[in-house]
Amino acid sequence: MNIPLRLRLFFPVMAVVVTVALLITVWSINRSINSLNQQLTNILLLEVQTITKMFEREHSLKHEKVSTNLSMASMLFHSSPVGLHRTPIRVEAENQESGVVHSTNLQPLYRDGISLWESSRFVDSIEYATGASATIFQLIDSGLVRVSTSIRKRSGERATGTYIPNRSPVTGAILSGESYYGRAFVVNEWYTTAYEPVMIDGDIIGALYTGEKEKDMSELGEILSRLTIGTSGYPFVFDKEGVLLIHPYREGEEWNSEAFGEKISGSDEGVITLRRGGDREVIAYRYFDPFELYIAASAMSNIENRDMIRGAVTGAILVSIVAISALLLLLYRFTTDRLYRYLNALERSEEKLASARDALKQSEKLAHMGQVSAGIAHELNNPLGVITMYSNIILDELPEGSDIEDDIKLIAAQAERCKKIVGGLLNFARKSRVKPQSTDIVRFLHESINNVVVPDNIEVSVRSEESTEMAAIDREQMMQVFTNIMKNGIEAMTDGGRLTITVSGKEESVVISIADTGKGIEPENMEKLFTPFFTTKRVGKGTGLGLALVYGVVKMHKGKIDVRSNSDRESAPTGTEFIITLPRKGEESDDTDI
Ligand code: ADP
Ligand code: MG
Repeated sequence: MNIPLRLRLFFPVMAVVVTVALLITVWSINRSINSLNQQLTNILLLEVQTITKMFEREHSLKHEKVSTNLSMASMLFHSSPVGLHRTPIRVEAENQESGVVHSTNLQPLYRDGISLWESSRFVDSIEYATGASATIFQLIDSGLVRVSTSIRKRSGERATGTYIPNRSPVTGAILSGESYYGRAFVVNEWYTTAYEPVMIDGDIIGALYTGEKEKDMSELGEILSRLTIGTSGYPFVFDKEGVLLIHPYREGEEWNSEAFGEKISGSDEGVITLRRGGDREVIAYRYFDPFELYIAASAMSNIENRDMIRGAVTGAILVSIVAISALLLLLYRFTTDRLYRYLNALERSEEKLASARDALKQSEKLAHMGQVSAGIAHELNNPLGVITMYSNIILDELPEGSDIEDDIKLIAAQAERCKKIVGGLLNFARKSRVKPQSTDIVRFLHESINNVVVPDNIEVSVRSEESTEMAAIDREQMMQVFTNIMKNGIEAMTDGGRLTITVSGKEESVVISIADTGKGIEPENMEKLFTPFFTTKRVGKGTGLGLALVYGVVKMHKGKIDVRSNSDRESAPTGTEFIITLPRKGEESDDTDI
């Protein structure tokens, strides 16, 4: 297949560029997916943090509320006279933690003349007014026993008779006359609580309590249900056992035993990724100690990222298409251009090398030619002389009007022609020895012109800046050189013209230019000019040995010969110029290497 060099260069370069661009595209898409995932994770973490803040606020609000309630309850409690009955009663006291029951004596507490042990009116009115549970405790041997309470046991009955054991921090605080604020496990749930000692005549006889259930899940759940994250995300809450306390649709169920058991349980904060089918769920979570539960936020990263990834991919593809096209265009213009020029230059220098090789071959051929022709010419000269001589004798002796006269004449003429060729060959062959003599080239050229027949329609001129230009030449041989070139010029100007000979002196050499205004040399003949027997002239006219001899002689003089010619009438005036450069100092040589 014939693909232009430029395209052949372009294809691999294009392949490389396209591959690189595709790799960059894939890489950048991957990067944006990663950064989107990171972003989603950050959003989820932020969500968890926000909910935690909300829970903390809820927690501290509870505290405030409970302590306000306690002040109010205390005020109300002491607004009526209180006192202890002298006769103790027997009560069954139940440890609220262990459930163990024992009998003990208790001096019942009276308020406004009513035994609190028998009436829960006061605590109920507190609960009614504040929404907080309320209890009145009395000290017994093993702790603080509830004598009147609005708190109910799991069974539904009031928790009267249950007691907080002595080793509880609550009992400790009350016994030393201090109030206690904090979390407390009341009967069966955690409460945000406040306790205050109750004193009669300077003695601590019990405590007043108000409290609220620590976490009101239904209220928090409602707030959380309004929070959504992206299109697929939501917050949720689960306890230390992995049971979902707040969840959009799975409340009360076990959340995800695998994820909880292996990944979350025990760690306070983190992000996990779960794969379910084709979905990738990212979950951020944090343990909230005051409520003893985990706050979590989850979202499907593949769903959340889908649109953004689609956008990123389209964008990346568009950008890379534009970039690839621009790059390819630039590359095509510049890189391949340069490469192209470089390879072209390489090709040209190879051509030059080839032509130098050709020239070498040429001179080898000529040298060989010289030796061969010397032999042949020598051998042919004598027989040719005999043929010429005898055909002339026969012609002389032929009777008038003989019918072989024309034939004999033809033999004599052709033999004559052979002699001419042989003469040329001998000239060519003999020129392997140079006898240089210092010569004024300007004068010598004038002499050469005299040896050439110049038709009337041709004008010959010799131009020189200096009147003499000296160089050492073998005069006999150089005469052949100049006359041959002049004759060729004249023969090329069949319709007349100008033959201009110019001599210019250089320091080391003399340059002789012989230019005609003839028909010029066809480009395809330029390289054959100096080859022996190359001629474009008709048979009998040219021998093709003239320029071969010229070349040989100039080389023998360590000179140089150049030809410039134009045969194209359309482009410029036609004509040919031979430029011979001869060193001024000639040296005697018998060099056969022409
Ligand atoms: P010949 O003159 O016998 O043909 P040459 O070796 O002298 O042989 O020249 C070889 C050929 O070179 C000629 O036949 C001719 O085609 C061409 N040539 C040489 N000199 C000129 C010139 N000045 N103008 C045009 N053609 C030339
Ligand atoms: Mg000639």
